[in-house]
Amino acid sequence: GPDYVRAIAPYQAGKPISEVAREFGLDEAKIVKLASNENPLGMPESARRAMQAAFDELARYPDANGFELKQAISARYGVPQDWITLGNGSNDILELAAHALVQPGESVVYAQYSFAVYPLATQAVGGRGIVVAAKDYGHDLDAMAAAIAADTRLVYIANPNNPTGTFLPAEKIAAFLARVPANVVVVLDEAYNEYLAPELQYDSIAWVREYPNLIVSRTLSKAYGLAGLRVGFAIAQPPLTDLLNRIRQPFNVNSLAQAAAVAALNDTEFLARSARLNADGYRQLTAAFEAMGLEYVPSFGNFVLVRVGDDDGAGARVNLALLKQGVIVRPVASYGLPQWLRISIGLPEENEAFIAALKKVLS
Ligand code: PMP
Repeated sequence: GPDYVRAIAPYQAGKPISEVAREFGLDEAKIVKLASNENPLGMPESARRAMQAAFDELARYPDANGFELKQAISARYGVPQDWITLGNGSNDILELAAHALVQPGESVVYAQYSFAVYPLATQAVGGRGIVVAAKDYGHDLDAMAAAIAADTRLVYIANPNNPTGTFLPAEKIAAFLARVPANVVVVLDEAYNEYLAPELQYDSIAWVREYPNLIVSRTLSKAYGLAGLRVGFAIAQPPLTDLLNRIRQPFNVNSLAQAAAVAALNDTEFLARSARLNADGYRQLTAAFEAMGLEYVPSFGNFVLVRVGDDDGAGARVNLALLKQGVIVRPVASYGLPQWLRISIGLPEENEAFIAALKKVLS
């Protein structure tokens, strides 16, 4: 196989509860997992019911074009169906973009401390990553615009960003889009968009109408509570959408996932409840960090990055001690943040269990 594939460092997912229970001799029921930015409310009841109705049809292939789901997305975001690409999670969208647009040796621009799948998707197609230094743990869009080279095909931007939780206000993104050459495609990854407070929301679909080189990426894994089902989607103008769909696997979103996603997209009550719970949990966690004198990065997502020590072994050490207490969080040394841990915001009692364990570990 190609050298650029052998050179890839695999994605490190959060440890599953069953594995931690076995490894540390703990009771599964007592383990708290705040490691993968999942929705602590579980999946919406509406999605469960929709899947039950779809269950008897599993001998049939899924709708390859996802008509009902695209219909729901179309109604929700006000774009025609030929502006939509469905993904097996939004990771699939991120990969499709690299696959469709980048040839071996060409470059892709993304930020330091940004989502791990950007380098992975780039490397998988033999692309060359141009990593732009972060500013205050977030994207430095001026530097990113300046870093675009003659052979750059793609730019990835996460807003809010994972794992740092930083947020770019609309005017900064608009100014950036205006500077990007027309032959460079921008993927604006909005996986955590639904957690933004109403006053921070912005109209990225209007940008898609303005820029034929923009892909907006969304997921049902976070605020919609369907991470295990793997549903994401892209919104872009038809020529770009057509390109993505040519290489998309025809049945990349399974039937249960399609049915559940339609229900979840229409479940505005669940979405509002998720956002409220997250805002409360954010206050709970950050109040504890402040009381403990721990530095954290102000977050706009459903997770918080907290600094747990000054030496480069701190993240790994505190992570291991937390695991022994039955609390799973996410070490971020692989992102170049060895003194930090990323904590997903959970239910109040889960947050409390984490805070108690952290106090014990750090005392
Ligand atoms: N983008 C960002 C910024 C993320 O943090 C994640 C989830 N870790 C994803 C995309 C992918 O999520 P999914 O494939 O579940 O849609």
